[in-house]
Amino acid sequence: MSSALLPVYARANIAFERGEGSWLIATNGERYLDFGAGIAVNALGHAHPHLVEALKTQAEKLWHTSNLFQIPDGQRLAERLVAATFADTVFFTNSGAEALEASIKMARKYQSAKGHPERYRIITFQGAFHGRTLATIAAGGSPKYLEGFGPTVEGFDQVPFGDIAAAKAAVSPETAAILAEPIQGEGGIRVMSNEALRQLRQLADDNGLLLIFDEVQTGVGRTGKLFAYEHAGIEPDIMAIAKGIGGGFPMGACLATTEAASGMTAGVHGTTFGGNPLAMAVGNAVLDVVLAPGFLEHIRSVGLRLKQQLASIADRHPSVVAELRGEALMLGLRCLIPPADVVAAFRDEKLLAIPAGDNVVRLLPPLVITEEEAAEAARRIDAALGKLEQTLAAQPAADASV
Ligand SMILES: *Cc1c(COP(=O)(O)O)cnc(C)c1O
Repeated sequence: MSSALLPVYARANIAFERGEGSWLIATNGERYLDFGAGIAVNALGHAHPHLVEALKTQAEKLWHTSNLFQIPDGQRLAERLVAATFADTVFFTNSGAEALEASIKMARKYQSAKGHPERYRIITFQGAFHGRTLATIAAGGSPKYLEGFGPTVEGFDQVPFGDIAAAKAAVSPETAAILAEPIQGEGGIRVMSNEALRQLRQLADDNGLLLIFDEVQTGVGRTGKLFAYEHAGIEPDIMAIAKGIGGGFPMGACLATTEAASGMTAGVHGTTFGGNPLAMAVGNAVLDVVLAPGFLEHIRSVGLRLKQQLASIADRHPSVVAELRGEALMLGLRCLIPPADVVAAFRDEKLLAIPAGDNVVRLLPPLVITEEEAAEAARRIDAALGKLEQTLAAQPAADASV
């Protein structure tokens, strides 16, 4: 289909008209169970009444003022994030990549302000995804995102995923920080073990490095804790978040300790839109729900039940599914056929999922998903995998007949 849009996306030929909780309703009236949640963004599903109310109320009062003035709702959201995490201070952005840019700049500035401007390099992991700006594609290191965009931004040293010995070997007198996703999302739901995360903390401490976690996808409840680092019992110095915190409103944040942020004084960084009153109203409303008693327990219990169902489904379809991975509501099926084919088969069953690297199909439902909806998704996944298997089994016969 020809379009006035820059063709950087291979879009499925469906448009949605509205959403209700975990469901999306297409323009032709068909209902889809949404296990993509706009790539882990619609944390509270679609048209959540509390978010709609917060956005409408704010829209009638004030949208934008710039950061040249006080924004009380932003202060409140920052205080709530600080109270709920390791952090002492928050910088709001409009996206994940900008939250990472702020994190990278903060780490470099920290070392520079401590008298070590030569310490600007950051150790990252293969398969990482940190965004699409020039610095974040360099941090991610994926050749397909770097190709053709000129010289790669200097200062990222990439080591194999989860390889702590390699990370240790990569530390040099120029190293400023280590940057990692506790669970790689785009990379294929690759879980960094709690032990590996603890070793990264130790490595950072031993060498005067800052530990930066990219929780843009894992954060805001997705793994059953407010943030994934909590599973490992350690804390980062800097953390980038986005996706779920806005529930669909574009926003992100860079959280940090006072020490890590000590180089970030007035004027050294900024944003026109970040932290505007509309975004802050929605962010506070998302936290109202996610921090309410029982909400994280709900994610853990529905996630565990779903994982058990998927494990037995994966066992029943060994010719398509090789492995089930992930935590709570951040799950992945590593497939033996192209993940795009599996996503298409799920879509035929009116279930939306998202392909990722490492041959994985990601399942990222809204965090408000009910047990019944999760069970319904499992049935649809089972049915789609069954049909895929039949097609695979039929293929040699079909080939032989021609
Ligand atoms: C999506 C994502 C980003 C980039 O976020 P944008 O809002 O697309 O810039 C960065 N890191 C991780 C882990 C992500 O999943």
